[in-house]
Amino acid sequence: MAEAAVLRNFAGENHIMTTVSPLLDTPITYLPGVGPQRAKVLETELRITTFRDLLYYFPYKHIDRTRLYYIHELTTDMPFVQIRGEILSYEEEGRGRKRRLIAHFTDGHDIIDLIWFHATTFKWIQKSYVAGKAYIVFGRPNVFGGRLNIAHPDIDPADSLQLGTMGLQPYYNTTERMKKSGLNSRSMERFTRTLFEKLWPGGFAASTANAAGTAQPAALCDDYLPETLRRQLTLIPLAQSLHDLHYPDKAEALRRATYRQKFEELFFIQLGILRFARQRQQQVSGYVFHHVGDYFNTFYHRYLPFSLTEAQKRVIREMRHDMGSGKQMNRLLQGDVGSGKTLVALMTMLIAIDNGYQACLMAPTEILAEQHLDTFRAFLKDMPVRVELLTGAVKGKRRRDPILQGTRTGEVNILIGTHAVLEDTVEFHRLGLVVIDEQHRFGVAQRARLWKKSAASDGHPAASRPLFETPPHVLVMTATPIPRTLAMTLYGDLDVSVIDELPPGRKPIETRHFWQERTESLYRGIRTEIGKGRQVYVVYPLIQESEKMDLQDLENGYEELCRVFPDLRISKVHGKMRSAEKDAEMERFVSGETQILVATTVIEVGVNVPNASVMVIMNAERFGLAQLHQLRGRVGRGADQSYCILVTKYNLSQETRQRIDIMCDTTDGFEIAEADLRFRGPGDLEGTQQSGMAFNLHIANIARDGQLVQLARDTANRILDEDPAQSKPEYAPMWAHLRELNQNEFDWSNIS
Ligand code: ADP
Ligand code: MG
Repeated sequence: MAEAAVLRNFAGENHIMTTVSPLLDTPITYLPGVGPQRAKVLETELRITTFRDLLYYFPYKHIDRTRLYYIHELTTDMPFVQIRGEILSYEEEGRGRKRRLIAHFTDGHDIIDLIWFHATTFKWIQKSYVAGKAYIVFGRPNVFGGRLNIAHPDIDPADSLQLGTMGLQPYYNTTERMKKSGLNSRSMERFTRTLFEKLWPGGFAASTANAAGTAQPAALCDDYLPETLRRQLTLIPLAQSLHDLHYPDKAEALRRATYRQKFEELFFIQLGILRFARQRQQQVSGYVFHHVGDYFNTFYHRYLPFSLTEAQKRVIREMRHDMGSGKQMNRLLQGDVGSGKTLVALMTMLIAIDNGYQACLMAPTEILAEQHLDTFRAFLKDMPVRVELLTGAVKGKRRRDPILQGTRTGEVNILIGTHAVLEDTVEFHRLGLVVIDEQHRFGVAQRARLWKKSAASDGHPAASRPLFETPPHVLVMTATPIPRTLAMTLYGDLDVSVIDELPPGRKPIETRHFWQERTESLYRGIRTEIGKGRQVYVVYPLIQESEKMDLQDLENGYEELCRVFPDLRISKVHGKMRSAEKDAEMERFVSGETQILVATTVIEVGVNVPNASVMVIMNAERFGLAQLHQLRGRVGRGADQSYCILVTKYNLSQETRQRIDIMCDTTDGFEIAEADLRFRGPGDLEGTQQSGMAFNLHIANIARDGQLVQLARDTANRILDEDPAQSKPEYAPMWAHLRELNQNEFDWSNIS
C-alpha cells in the first residue's frame, strides 16, 4: 500500500513515511507554508499537530463563490455576494470611535462603498488594495447613511481566484490569538488546499477514478464502514466525505458528506456503548434477589401512607425483574421532580434487605442526604431497619465509628451519604444495591469506585478486588429529565425506567413572568397566599464569580420584604452561613414558624415543604432551564394551586425571553430538557463534561441530530446481532477502528 515517501520540513529535516507512520500522522510542520511558529499557534489554538488533525478540522460553513453579482443587483437581504471591479479612491470619514475608511468601488457600471472601522488597519488596507487593480470583493450588502455598502469585505486579487473551479468556499473557525499571528480562515484554506494536493495528487476526482472509483488513496486508511452498510444507508465513501466536507463542488455533495460524517461519529459511539453493555450482560453476574419478603410487604401493606401510582408500580416491577435475573441491574430511573422516585428507591432497597443484602444511597449534597435520612426514617417508622447517615459533616470518632462498624458487620441496612460513602474506610458486609440520586453530579470515577465496594466479606482488601466480580445492582436516579438522544449517548448502556405520572391530586403549577420594576402586584399575590396559610420561597441566584453582589442582592431583597411585610416572619438562608445556623433557619420554615424563606440556590435540591405554594425566582434570567425547573419543583407538592413567579430585569436577550416563555408554557420536564439541550448544546449540559466519555464529535450534534442518533443506535444493535463474535472479515476494519477510538475504553467501561 503506502510506499515509503519522504517529506522535508522547513528545517530541511526528512520525515520518512512508512506504513507504520502513514501520511496522516505526519507532523503539521511538514506541511509547506506551516513553519514552527505557525505550527505552535495551530497546536495551542486548535490542537492541530498532524495532517490528520488538519483534515478533521472541518469548515463551519461554505459560501457559494460560483457566481458574480453586479452592484445594481444587490439588495440588503442577500447573505453574501461577490463583485468584480476596482477601487476608485479612498476617503476617511467621521472622528473618534466613529472614524471609518471608505473605498469607492466600481464594477464598471455602478459604485458601492467598502467600509472599515478599525483605524489601526486603515494604513495596511490602503497599502494592500490599490486603486486601479482588479479585485473580487466579497461580503454582505448593507445600507448605511442611505448608501449601499459592504463593511469589512474579503478582498482577493481577481487573478488569484479561479472562480469557475472554486465552487463552495470553506470558512474555518479561527481564534483571536490566531488572527494576531496573521492566521485567518483564508490561511486555513491555504493549508487544507496544500494538504489535499498531498493526499490527492492530481486532484481528488483523478486519484479516485483511476482505482475504479472505490479504492482509497494510499495515504488514507480504508473505509472502515462496511460496503454493505454504506449501500443500505446510502453513505458515501470515507475519502469522498473527507474531501467534500472541505471542498464540495455543490451543496448536495456537502450535504452527503456531512451526513456520512455525522452518522459515523454517532455510530461508533453507539457501537462502543452497546458492545460494552452486551459484554457486561454476558460476563458480569449479579446477586440474585430471589424473593420479596417481610420488609417489603410489611412496608407496602402497613406503612405506606398512600397508594403507588401505576408508573411507580411498573418501575418497581422492572427492577424486581432485573434483580432476580442473575444479571447485574444497571438502570436509569427518570422522573420529574416530585414524581416519587425516592419512595421507589426505598422500596427497592427493602427488597435488597429482604434478601440479606445492604443498600446504599448516594446524594450529591449533604442537605439532600440529610433530607433523605429524615424521609426514610419517617417512612420506615418503627420497622426494624437501621438507616444511617455518613457525610463529611458526620465527624468525630464517637459518631463515625459506630456507623462504620455497623456497615462492616451488616447491622446497618441502609447507608445514606455523600461522596463520603466511597472512602476506603467504608466497608460493607454485603452491599447488594447502590442507588445514586441526582446522578449527573457524580463523576464517572466516583461511580466506578462502587464496583470495588461489594463483597467485603470474601476477605480481599477492597482495592485489589477485580472490577467484574459480582458488583452491586445499580440504580441511577435523575430528576432533571434528560432528552432521549442525550440519554442514549450518556447512559446508553443503562436500561431506562420512566415515571411519567405524578401522584394524584397535584395541580399543575402556574408560572408567571414579572418585571422586577413592577413588584407591587407580586407582593399583593404573596400577601394573598400567606393569608390562606401558605408559605413562600424567594430565591436568588448565587454564583461564585459574583458572590459578593449576589449576596448583596439577597440582603437587599430580604430587607425590602421585611419592610413590605412588617407583620410576617421571614427566614434567610444562604451558602455562606454556618451549617448549624442554616439548618436552624431552614427548620423554622419547614416547621411553619416563618412564612417566607429568602434563599440562594441552596434549596434547589431536596427541601420538601408541602405547605409552600409560591416559588419566586429573582433574576430568573440568570438561571438555566434545568435549574428553573428544579426550583419550580419545590412547590406544587400539596393539593392546592401553586405558583412559580419568574422575576427578571426589563432588558432580556431573545434567548432569555424564549427560556422564560417555555417555563410559562409547560411544566413537562422532558419538553424543558429538550429545549435546554437546543439552547445550550450538549457540551454545556451539566455532567457531560465530567461524564468522562471522550466523544469524538466533530460535526454531529446530539441535540440537533436526534434522528441520526436513533439510526446509529439501531444500526449498531443490528451489527452486534449479526456479528456477535466480532469476527466477520468484512467488519474487521470497523472493529479495528472502534478499538482505536476507544483507547480509553477501560475508563468508561467502569461507568455503572
Ligand atoms: P422525587 O424524588 O421524584 O422528586 P419524591 O419521592 O420526593 O419525588 O416524592 C415527592 C412527594 O410525593 C413526597 O412527599 C412523597 O412522599 C410523595 N409521594 C410519592 N409517591 C406518592 C404517591 N404514589 N402518592 C402520593 N404521594 C406520593
Ligand atoms: Mg428526589
